[in-house]
Amino acid sequence: MDYPLTLQHILERAGRLFAKKEIVTRTASGMHRYCYGDYYRRTHRLARALERLGVRPGDRVGTLAWNTSRHLEQYFGVPCYGAVLHTLNLRLPHDQLAYIINHAEDKVIFVDSSLASILEQIRGQIPTVQHFVIMHDDGSVAAALAPAADYEELLASVPEEPYPWPRLDENDAAGMCYTSGTTGNPKGVVYSHRSIFLHSYGLTMADTFALSERDVLLQIVPMFHANGWGKPFAAVMVGAKIVFPGPHPQPRDLARLIQEEHVTIMGAVPTIWIGLYNLLEQEKFDLSSVRMAATAGSAIPRQFVESFEKRYGLRVVQAWGMTETTPIGTVSVPKSYMDAWPEEQRFAVRARQGVTVAGVDIRAVDEQGQEIPWDGQTMGELQIRGPWICSGYYQDPRSEGSFSDGWFRTGDVVTIDAEGYIQIADRTKDLVKSGGEWISSVELESALMAHPKVLEAAVIAVHHPKWQERPLAAVAPKPEYRGKITKEEILEFLAARVAKWWLPDDVVFIDAVPKTSVGKFDKKALRERFKDYRLPSGS
Ligand code: ADP
Repeated sequence: MDYPLTLQHILERAGRLFAKKEIVTRTASGMHRYCYGDYYRRTHRLARALERLGVRPGDRVGTLAWNTSRHLEQYFGVPCYGAVLHTLNLRLPHDQLAYIINHAEDKVIFVDSSLASILEQIRGQIPTVQHFVIMHDDGSVAAALAPAADYEELLASVPEEPYPWPRLDENDAAGMCYTSGTTGNPKGVVYSHRSIFLHSYGLTMADTFALSERDVLLQIVPMFHANGWGKPFAAVMVGAKIVFPGPHPQPRDLARLIQEEHVTIMGAVPTIWIGLYNLLEQEKFDLSSVRMAATAGSAIPRQFVESFEKRYGLRVVQAWGMTETTPIGTVSVPKSYMDAWPEEQRFAVRARQGVTVAGVDIRAVDEQGQEIPWDGQTMGELQIRGPWICSGYYQDPRSEGSFSDGWFRTGDVVTIDAEGYIQIADRTKDLVKSGGEWISSVELESALMAHPKVLEAAVIAVHHPKWQERPLAAVAPKPEYRGKITKEEILEFLAARVAKWWLPDDVVFIDAVPKTSVGKFDKKALRERFKDYRLPSGS
């Protein structure tokens, strides 16, 4: 049958089959619990409320919200109604936030009351927004936002009857996200029902994340960051218990949630895992329920994968993806015969970004556009295609140049080994180009962060009169080693791990590496900070 793959099917099936399963949210006033049955009914009410607000099929509906069960109501209610869910990054600079609300022409925005002040400040710049719906999360009143409705009052004001979902085409837009805009304004990516549906299947496959009804998912990744990595959709598809960490979660909050809710699976950027690791070094928590901690967004230093597992029994699984790829493209799960490999080699595989999820294809090409061999050595730009890879940016001329005969150009430089595992060497713009050769800043950073006195480290290219560019290492020591670690010590440590010509020409010490709005190392900010830096003479 030509049956449309829409989110309506996922929601309806979950409402029927998993009504008793729990959805839990950490709130300012304690834990909020309800079950899929309540969730289902409220999501149907939400559709009626959208109708009452005058939302039309295809309209964009924004959310500016923490990870909560209410946000999950919008995750399904908005697209099942036929409108487009536009998740807004609450950490974006205000001018960029105004830009994306205008660019998407959001008609209604659902906002947590504790975040409403952000919108108040840009209210004058976002004329397309006709209604705000305030979700009270801490009792604060967002008086200045108008016209505004209260989320709970709105839901209570409509009849509790199943909403007759419109017939949707699987290629209709279900959601959109903007990239965080490290260069220029953010670019919009639109996801169809079909792409999210197939991506959800991708997350449930046994050799990726094997997400199942038996799982308890801790949704750490912000729901505005590339669909929360698609996990909320996939969790509802399989009926997993979901735990939302709510506003401002800190490592201790996460550790408590894992322990108390018996979390089995979770995903986050390396910064979060490093924060959790440092907490575990000081305090004891029972994390034995966890079967997988997925990491993506930036490279995780290999020693974390190893020491998390050896010291705390936590299996860290690396994946790679982008906002443009819904987001999961590859997952690093070793193949069965690799179990017999020496430990060193097994961890080396785990530290790579992995193999493609069935459905997507990859290749990598050199600067002349020739496909590179899968030899684990040659670097090339990663290109990807598949049913959940974007086909262009939303109303943006920058789409041109992002594709090459049906492949999306990721801007990531990789090697691919003979087993098909990719390793991210860098983003094209972060590579250090020294005398025509490429140095991977990511690999240098991983080597630096293996030093026991180093908390975090980032490497940027600085101008060199002879070699054009050379690496500069910016190192943040662990607090107890501040002022007690030397450049020589760092370079000596690195010398045993990387090629001599890769060694940074200088090491500068900083308190912390600046982070982007989704918690990655902000190389742009670092380059700006060191723009007047000159290498020591003689280097
Ligand atoms: P942003 O551009 O705002 O960081 P994305 O989250 O879409 O937004 O970033 C995607 C990029 O993140 C990829 O192109 C890649 O450079 C990087 N990335 C994602 N996963 C990994 C990973 N496991 N290791 C290294 N880099 C990664």
